[in-house]
Amino acid sequence: MKDTLKHKGKRNLLARELETKGIQHKGALEAIRAIPRHLFMDSSFEDHAYQDKAFPIAAEQTISQPYTVAFQTALLDPKPGEKILEIGTGSGYQTAALLHLKARVFTIERQLELFKKANLFFKKMGYRPKKFIFGDGYKGLPEEAPFDGIIVTAGAPEIPRTLLAQLAVGGRMVIPVGEENQTMMLVRRTSEKEFEKQDCGAFRFVPMLQDKN
Ligand code: SAH
Repeated sequence: MKDTLKHKGKRNLLARELETKGIQHKGALEAIRAIPRHLFMDSSFEDHAYQDKAFPIAAEQTISQPYTVAFQTALLDPKPGEKILEIGTGSGYQTAALLHLKARVFTIERQLELFKKANLFFKKMGYRPKKFIFGDGYKGLPEEAPFDGIIVTAGAPEIPRTLLAQLAVGGRMVIPVGEENQTMMLVRRTSEKEFEKQDCGAFRFVPMLQDKN
């Protein structure tokens, strides 16, 4: 598959659609316009790639809906050079959005099949996260902490304390919390001991799972 003017045109329309749905963050919209989402998906979905919908990838997981990716990116608001930890690489589409905004990205995926696939794909496309780890996101990445931002792209039953501990003071975490349905939470670490939480609306995600071991 290639990226063509036709795909670019569809991306511009998608970005406009997301704007009408309330996305205002310039960087997030720019990422939507720039990233060839169809290349992150199975070729059989090529014609649907610029619909604002989630689609199956592999291992019963999904590529997040563009609205959700833009929404989470806008909440996280990554600045160039900031250290961002992403839990749930999946197809790598959200990762690419963070890289597009010039963040230093550390990303973790627990499904081996998806990890291998995304790893090859990143190399092929020239996407360069600082680290791409096969492992359990509940543990975070203590050796690289603290992070300016943490983004979780799977539904967590509660906010994992291990991840809160890896947030820099002034840092923020964007995480969908809940079992069946999730509430998007924005958590800011305002001091060593204090966190401010904000409820940002209802979403649906695949579950954030514990390690298989
Ligand atoms: N942003 C991705 C979303 C993929 S779905 C995309 O748009 O493609 C969520 C992903 O989180 C899945 O790939 C799933 O395997 C992964 N995941 C679930 N629990 C995890 C955990 N504990 N650690 C790391 N990844 C996890």
